[in-house]
Formats: sequence, C-alpha cells, structure tokens
Amino acid sequence: MQKDQLKLQLQQHQHKLQQCTLCPKMSGPAIHGLAIPSKVMLIGQAPGFKEIEVLRPFAWTAGKKLFSWFAAIGVDEKKIRTSVYMSAICRCYPGKKSKNAHGDRVPDKEEIKQCSRWLNAEIELLKPELIILVGKLAISQFMSIKKLDEVIGPTH
Ligand code: SF4
Repeated sequence: MQKDQLKLQLQQHQHKLQQCTLCPKMSGPAIHGLAIPSKVMLIGQAPGFKEIEVLRPFAWTAGKKLFSWFAAIGVDEKKIRTSVYMSAICRCYPGKKSKNAHGDRVPDKEEIKQCSRWLNAEIELLKPELIILVGKLAISQFMSIKKLDEVIGPTH
C-alpha cells in the first residue's frame, strides 16, 4: 500500500477511534499518536489523566522515563513522535485505582478485549517489523509472563 493511502486509512481509523464509547468505566477521549505509516509501533498500557488533558500519549511520568531512555541512545522525543506509531492496549483513561490512590487503575479484561479491535486494526494496517512493548500490561498481551523480571535482560 502507498504511504499516502496508508496515512489516510490511519487517519480514518483514528477518527473512528475517537468516537468510541464502548467502556462505561473509561474516560475519553481516546488518545493516540500521529497517523504515521511506520514499520515501528510503540504499545503502552493506557493514558493517564495528563495524557487526556494534553491529548498526547506518553506525555507524563512513563513518557518522561521512556524518552530519557531513547535520549540516552541519541534519539530525541520529537524523532520518536514523528517516526513511530504510538498505540496502547487501551486508549481511554481508566481512572484512579481507588478514590485516594495515587496510581491509575489497570484496565480490566473486558476493556482490554473491547479495545483490542483498535490495536489489531492498526497492526493489520501497518504490518510492523518492530513492536516496542512498554510496561507489564502491554508485554503480557503478547508474551506469557507473570513478572516483568522475566523479560528484562534476555533477548527474544
Ligand atoms: S478504552 Fe478503547 S474500547 Fe474502551 S471506550 Fe476507549 S477506545 Fe473504546
């Protein structure tokens, strides 16, 4: 498929994604990166409240850590944002774990299943050659793991 045509399809896909209201416990809007016809995909867990505020994935704590790792190998945030397709297991904000908790709720099985339609469609369109999984939830959707330690260090 031509890059222009693929870009258009990604834009149409993201337009539909933004209208998704399948999960009653999630807060939108659905967050996604740019519609880049890339062979590299970056897949995270789900946006936090900051990402919902600025309408950008990886805009806060996890993103800062992630981009610092890329910076250490000479690749800056702008380069990543404009050359890698940024996706996630769930696209809306799951909310806090509980009322006074600091951390965000991990999406439940049903939400992951509902949102997989968007991720699967992106994988189908992009046919990525490299998928970068960020965090335990994303890794566990593609690999059978119980703890993150199992995949830190070894080459797969
Ligand atoms: S999390 Fe995914 S499936 Fe659920 S409402 Fe948001 S975009 Fe739709």
